[in-house]
Amino acid sequence: MSSSLSSETRVESGRETESDTVPGPILLLGAPGVGKGTQAKELVKYWNIPQISTGDLLRANVAEGTKLGIAAKEIMARGELVPDSLVDEMVAARLLEPDTARGYILDGFPRTLGQANWLDGRLAAQIEALPVVAVSIQVVYNQLLRRITGRRNCPVCQTIYNVYMRPPQREGICDVEGAELVQRADDTEEVFKERMRAYEALTRPVVEHYRALGRFAEVDGDRPIPEIAAGIVSAVERLRQPA
Ligand code: AMP
Repeated sequence: MSSSLSSETRVESGRETESDTVPGPILLLGAPGVGKGTQAKELVKYWNIPQISTGDLLRANVAEGTKLGIAAKEIMARGELVPDSLVDEMVAARLLEPDTARGYILDGFPRTLGQANWLDGRLAAQIEALPVVAVSIQVVYNQLLRRITGRRNCPVCQTIYNVYMRPPQREGICDVEGAELVQRADDTEEVFKERMRAYEALTRPVVEHYRALGRFAEVDGDRPIPEIAAGIVSAVERLRQPA
């Protein structure tokens, strides 16, 4: 956990320890580029629970050439959503891993009402499982466009740069590894627009679903990373308090 998140959270909660809340399943929601992946990594450090990113799991399947990867590859390249049945099955397998016992951070799932209903049903059937709490990260459209189209990754150490906001010292080269930076195939403006369309049509109803259930909070994503993370932590702790 970053020290700023730690100290800020202590100030907010007045606690000596990092957190005594059992986090349970936490769902990070938000449009492409709001920083779900970045925030998930902060929360992993804070609660010591895994990040489950369906985008990362799907990309790994594509890279390995599995049956799922072959089915998903073209769909992902167009910025469309992979069918619920395939994604649900992949998540079900991941949730069987023992590291999910105290909780986990779902990053990029559920993205449709069908996936949300599947997840809620699965958790309701497990007596010991806490229900999902959902936190939506808000960032305005033009800012998202710059974040997505400017994003470059180091293929070796996975450091994420942005050509507009966090450029490397030498153009196109990782500061740490000296490797040539790469752009995700779906981080172009054209594919971004399709991903935003899919978000508005299919994922916005998921936000409304969890809002209606009262297990929902919104945080402003246009702030320094530790401040956003502290906002998510306090939202989750509030949502986990007994009614
Ligand atoms: P992400 O890295 O979360 O932006 O996901 C990259 C791509 O993977 C998306 O544009 C979709 O094609 C696919 N994908 C990731 N998560 C899901 C999901 N929950 N349901 C369907 N498709 C998904």
